[in-house]
Amino acid sequence: MSSITQKLVSVEKVTESKIDQVDFDNLVFGKQFTDHMFECDFIDGSWQNPTIKPFGQIMMSPAAKVFHYGQAVFEGMKAYKDDNDKVWLFRPHENFKRINKSSKRLAIPEFPEDFFFEGLETMLNMDKDWVKKGEGNSVYIRPFVIATECGVAAAPSSEYKFMILLSPVQAYYKGEVKVVIAQSFSRAADGGVGAAKAAGNYAAQFYPTNLAKEQGFQQVIWTDANEHKYLEEAGTMNVFFRINDTLITAPNNDRILDGITRKSVISLAELEGIYVEVRRITVTELIEASKDGSLKEIFGSGTAAVISPVSAFSYDHKTYDLPKIDDSYASRFKSKLMDIQYNRAEDPFHWRHEIK
Ligand SMILES: *Cc1c(COP(=O)(O)O)cnc(C)c1O
Repeated sequence: MSSITQKLVSVEKVTESKIDQVDFDNLVFGKQFTDHMFECDFIDGSWQNPTIKPFGQIMMSPAAKVFHYGQAVFEGMKAYKDDNDKVWLFRPHENFKRINKSSKRLAIPEFPEDFFFEGLETMLNMDKDWVKKGEGNSVYIRPFVIATECGVAAAPSSEYKFMILLSPVQAYYKGEVKVVIAQSFSRAADGGVGAAKAAGNYAAQFYPTNLAKEQGFQQVIWTDANEHKYLEEAGTMNVFFRINDTLITAPNNDRILDGITRKSVISLAELEGIYVEVRRITVTELIEASKDGSLKEIFGSGTAAVISPVSAFSYDHKTYDLPKIDDSYASRFKSKLMDIQYNRAEDPFHWRHEIK
């Protein structure tokens, strides 16, 4: 028996890196990609030929089912570089489990764990110069799955493509976020696909979010589809409300994406002795708390922006401003999380994963 582990993923390297053509100080989020990409196909009932190859176009039939029935799911993760040039992931097993949970909901076959980690880690090693040191710099990782079978009959595809792209990014949001609370549109409904990171969930949000933007707001906080009474989550982020010194966030259900940043914030808050209530919160309660001054903060949590403080919210055409406070929970959690992600602080929950 050989003691050398057989490699599962085949590798085709670029002949010349394009890294010198990239202006790392002026990156547009998600526009630029590293030299390589990971690709694996589901054919004849199994995932096969996991390959890392030069980043480039893919060929598909215009009749591929993803274009007609939207069978597509994705993930969002980041790789961080510490001061000693080590590259780290943050809770990557959570992303792996979640993409398979999303896939299952959309009748997509689950992806093997060894292909995922060998593909991702090998590629991050190959493209590690694209992961820049320094505050806010990272490589955004985009795993996704699409239905590739040719044919417009409305049935699940028999063929799929799993890919991972790497995109060097700087800090996501430059400023604060003003939000509109949804009163007629919905992001997700009971029994639907809201808890899956399904591509179509985003398509459904663009129009109502554009309406909010026309009024000077950046994002929508979605409410429950039945009554538009309970606050659920934002477009790409879970939401936290701080009333006095208590942190409140909606419980996970089949309309809400189970965010990894969200559950990390809850763990860090509990470690710090901050009281966290995971419960439903109504729009009425939020407005009352804003009026009596007990509402101190609203912030979003998600991989891309880590923590996004909300500066105002609008409901029924009235705008409610949040107070400006020193030592906010938002800034505290943001620096705590980033200190762990960039290997600058202790990692009490063993969330970091080193790329060796
Ligand atoms: C990805 C996503 C989040 C945030 O999840 P993280 O794991 O924290 O990045 C929140 N809400 C929605 C709808 C999402 O798609």
